[in-house]
Amino acid sequence: MKTLLVTGTDTDVGKTWISCALLKHLRRQVDSVGAYKPVCSGVLTNSQGRRVWSDVEQLAAAVGWTGSRNQICPQRFDAPVAPHVAAELENRSVDDALLDSGLQRWHALATHTIAEGAGGLLCPLSAQSTVADLAVRLKCPILIVAANRLGVINHTMLTVEVARQRGLHVAGVVLNDCQARDASSETNFKQLAYWLPKLSIWHCPHNSDELLDADGNTNFSVMSCFA
Ligand SMILES: [Mg+2]
Repeated sequence: MKTLLVTGTDTDVGKTWISCALLKHLRRQVDSVGAYKPVCSGVLTNSQGRRVWSDVEQLAAAVGWTGSRNQICPQRFDAPVAPHVAAELENRSVDDALLDSGLQRWHALATHTIAEGAGGLLCPLSAQSTVADLAVRLKCPILIVAANRLGVINHTMLTVEVARQRGLHVAGVVLNDCQARDASSETNFKQLAYWLPKLSIWHCPHNSDELLDADGNTNFSVMSCFA
């Protein structure tokens, strides 16, 4: 089973949106696709009064998974704060080993799995591990989602720098139009390409599943991210 870990420059930059877009691309090419979130915080109550975690529901829908949500995310906590802090508020703790072993439940079911981190690359997942630590242990490439707004050049370069220091393979950066555009949004792609010339960078227009290259072409290959 091959895994791609989707991380971000920050929380709320569109990791789940991009993960679901990647899963759609993947399902056109391979038969068995998995989606995984090692740990999740921030519970909601849906219209049927059921307790749900939005990321988990979106990932489940993207892979057509109707079974137990433990398969998608085995550790879920209520408070909308970093997972290990949310766990503490419930007098629980994040099981560090389960962050890794939960993913292996897809082994018999999927050839390719998209794993979505929490927060940014150095967000703590447990009292022992950050997202970067988990990526190192999984030995999988990472894809960095970055919000197309002012500050993205700095945030993206910081994330890439840390990833490289940890020996992680960065499959690419997705510049995501997830929020209101600002004066920098027109030039951010060019700037990222200039400062990170060796990286693949794609643009995801608002509300789109398509990832575009510098010329606006839709020749994105999700399989290349797993290489
Ligand atoms: Mg998310």
